[in-house]
Amino acid sequence: MNDQYWEMTHGEAVTLANMLAEEIMRHTSAESLRLYGVPRGGVPCSYLVAAALQVRGRRCTQVESPIEADVLVDDIYDSGATCARYAREAPGRLFGVLVSKTTKNVTVPHLSGGIDSSERWVVFPWEGTVEHSASDIVTRLIQFVGDDPTRGGLAETPKRVLKAWREWGAGYAMRAADVLKTFEDGADKVDEMVLVRDIPIYSHCEHHLAPFFGVAHIGYIPDGRIVGLSKLSRLADVFAKRLQVQERLTNQIADALVEHLQPKGVGVVVSCRHLCMESRGIQRQGATTITSAMRGVLFSKPEARAELMSLIK
Ligand code: ZN
Repeated sequence: MNDQYWEMTHGEAVTLANMLAEEIMRHTSAESLRLYGVPRGGVPCSYLVAAALQVRGRRCTQVESPIEADVLVDDIYDSGATCARYAREAPGRLFGVLVSKTTKNVTVPHLSGGIDSSERWVVFPWEGTVEHSASDIVTRLIQFVGDDPTRGGLAETPKRVLKAWREWGAGYAMRAADVLKTFEDGADKVDEMVLVRDIPIYSHCEHHLAPFFGVAHIGYIPDGRIVGLSKLSRLADVFAKRLQVQERLTNQIADALVEHLQPKGVGVVVSCRHLCMESRGIQRQGATTITSAMRGVLFSKPEARAELMSLIK
């Protein structure tokens, strides 16, 4: 779980600021430098870098706008969008970050104190713990919709929301391989279709973080291996308890069965209501989205597929 985050210490931040200061000195010989910290995360970084430059004999002042600055300082280079925006607003300045993520395409030139090529989330010491910064986001959201996060009913809401999201995102810590590893050798005669209908699905769309929910029907034609029927609903949870689109959810369930059970065929049909569609935007109420994924003989043989569909109905 912890390799998801790098909770940076103050010591690490100071070390990175020192390395960034060295980088900046390699690129400019100016004795006096005007620094601009990119709001919000770049501001403390800019103070740290100024301290590091001053120790090395450069004079530094913090300025109020990027136009006045020689060096722009930010906390992290991630997608590069911020760096690109400032390169347009204040061209020709040095752009320095404490940490550069090299997992993304580096399209905008910049200086960095260090490189982190992992996918983990960097939490800077002034952001508090992961829980603190995530909880702040919920508080901001409550303010954003126009309510008062300090009123009684909402006081504990950020904590509750994070706890609920731990559950709604539990699939990230689950693996299909673990759920399906305890297959049983099926009796030789079990080559009829096994179908579990109406498995409840509770997921969240990755575009709006809004719930979508409904049922999955999961069928397969075994080839010597069968799994306990409860495993199929756990398998659905592995992929539903993530940020999803229904089409991918359906395919992932089918592909996991193919990979781990190697059956003769797999058919998955998912039918869900999407709150992002029903409650906002075009408000198509009551519309159910149906997706299906057919593999093996359920893909290639129309009569097998017809049998599955008649069993579902
Ligand atoms: Zn959506």
